[in-house]
Amino acid sequence: MKTQEQFYKSKQWESFRKVIINERTDADGFVHCCSCGKPILHKYDLIVHHKQELSDSNVNDASISLNPDNVECICFSCHNKVHDRFTAGHSATFKPVKKKVYIVYGSPCSGKSTWVHGVATEDDLIVDLDNIWQMISINDRYTKPAALKSVVFQMRDAMYDIIKYRSGKWRNAYVITGGAMKGDRDRLKQRIGADELIYIDTDQAECLKRINSKGLNEEQKVQWIQFINDFFDKFQPDELSD
Ligand SMILES: [Zn+2]
Ligand SMILES: [Zn+2]
Repeated sequence: MKTQEQFYKSKQWESFRKVIINERTDADGFVHCCSCGKPILHKYDLIVHHKQELSDSNVNDASISLNPDNVECICFSCHNKVHDRFTAGHSATFKPVKKKVYIVYGSPCSGKSTWVHGVATEDDLIVDLDNIWQMISINDRYTKPAALKSVVFQMRDAMYDIIKYRSGKWRNAYVITGGAMKGDRDRLKQRIGADELIYIDTDQAECLKRINSKGLNEEQKVQWIQFINDFFDKFQPDELSD
């Protein structure tokens, strides 16, 4: 017997998901979103969504959880809209929309901020340490003097508390972090009560290539190559359970 959360982390789901994705890949090599019709380019953008939503009480019924007719491939942005509409549609029994908290992790230069900016809507909250550094100083995105560090971290912690207590009327929160070590990710998940972790799986070579388009000086470049290599040296992927 699995809970809904355990199911989505199981090998069983992962292999079912792969079969579905293979079956629904078009001649152009992409799965197209069933809602907006656009090709879904990245794994982290591709949601295999259950039409009849899973709960702890129906997840062990394979005719619901592992039924190809009960799933559709949808992009991350459209998936959020589907769930919003689903809740809004039940206006007679109105319940406030449940806030969702995502941890978005991956190597420096993997495109975490870019992705979040593509999927977030105006009611969403974003915690990006790089933005906090910029907000309180004259520095660019790549200059992080030690003298400001403790203030930056205190501000980030204040945001973490806001998210933890789901304080305010925002809809989704996206918390951007490196998160190479599994233990660090688990602790952060616990700390802010995150619902889901999203790995921006851009590979090492591509991340290194992107350094050149950031307008860094030579010294900064060397530092960023180090940051990226460190991430991939330390990286511990999530493991699936049986
Ligand atoms: Zn879509
Ligand atoms: Zn869904």
